[in-house]
Amino acid sequence: MPRNILLFVLALLFLSITGCLDQPQLTEASLESDYLVPPEDIDTAERQQALTESQVVFVEFDGVTVSNCPETTYCNDAQGNRSSIIESFFEQDTISWRPYQNGAGRQLIMDELEQAFDPYDVIFTTERPSSGHYTMLVIASNSEFSGLGVAPLDCGNAFPSSIAFVYRADEFSPQTLANAAVHELGHSFGLTHVEHTHDYMYFQADDGNNQFTESLYDVSNAPNRCYDGDTQDAPQVLLDVLGPTPFDGYFSDTDGSVHEEAIDAIYEEGITGGCTSDLLPEFCPSENVTRAQMAAFLSRALDLPPASKSYFSDTKGAWFEEYADQLAEAEITMGCDDGLYCGGDDVTRAQMALFLTRAFDLPPATQSYFTDTAGAFYEDAADRLAEAGITMGCGNNEYCGAESVTRGQMASFLARALGLV
Ligand SMILES: [Zn+2]
Repeated sequence: MPRNILLFVLALLFLSITGCLDQPQLTEASLESDYLVPPEDIDTAERQQALTESQVVFVEFDGVTVSNCPETTYCNDAQGNRSSIIESFFEQDTISWRPYQNGAGRQLIMDELEQAFDPYDVIFTTERPSSGHYTMLVIASNSEFSGLGVAPLDCGNAFPSSIAFVYRADEFSPQTLANAAVHELGHSFGLTHVEHTHDYMYFQADDGNNQFTESLYDVSNAPNRCYDGDTQDAPQVLLDVLGPTPFDGYFSDTDGSVHEEAIDAIYEEGITGGCTSDLLPEFCPSENVTRAQMAAFLSRALDLPPASKSYFSDTKGAWFEEYADQLAEAEITMGCDDGLYCGGDDVTRAQMALFLTRAFDLPPATQSYFTDTAGAFYEDAADRLAEAGITMGCGNNEYCGAESVTRGQMASFLARALGLV
């Protein structure tokens, strides 16, 4: 054998042993008929006990042997490593699921699961819990089977110890696996297939970006459903079945924020109802405050009386029309320009200084606090704010009058001005 061919063969042998000749990673799989419907006579009473707990999902990457349960017609027994799916779907008595070793792939799957179920009360772990109910999600590398995943279609999460499977992991890209993992868990929480191609519950798994949506049922690929109607509102179903992710205070998106105490305080005073949210109460603390929102905040904070007339030509019919008029009548603002209020504009820190100084009738300052306000139209107002302890500026003895104000910051300013924190 010529020497260069010999070297080539040796190199091939070396590469195949060390695993560098990976098969191409598949990025699409059909998940048609990938769920098992329980018999109608199954008692789901145990669910009542489990509803009060967080749903724990144990993601098993390390390989596990799962058996059929011959003595019962149907079982979903994560603790006992038993599932009817072993017989009804795979036509086996026992299957030894082989580990999925790809560390980066494992991480991507966990991240996708956490993100997809973030609004809901689900706890993901790769350690098998020692007690309590948990759903087991087996991510395995068994290429002897066709398809990619399977799970029980568990209406209302009646079996909180289901087992779901994604089982040809070595052949697929991590993102496709991650999407399939969310899909199969979705079945185990009572979701079925829908038409929206970027919904996790679309019957074709790929490596695209997915989400849970309200979508028409996929009639041809979802003969079984948990709920009546033409559409599946997946976020609402998951919220009903799993409950919202627990959070402190009144809003789900303020935990850990430096403004959380102030935000909860102004909520209690009826100054804010939060930002619009379909699912969980949110405050949107990092969004900028608009002049429209500012009008509402101040009008409620000061409990301003109704306005006697209309002041602005650009607020007609707007939700904040009355608030803007109340502010004008109280001489807190004269608008942004000739007869205009500019409700959609962000509030700058300069404008905020004027709003708050007038709204709370702050006394004159005894000294100058900021190095970047000399001669500015808001210099006096910024100093009054500082003297009242409402703000110490943006750092380095500067006030940063041109910067926008976030809703979280505004909550802190208002709460301090009102003495709530
Ligand atoms: Zn499916």
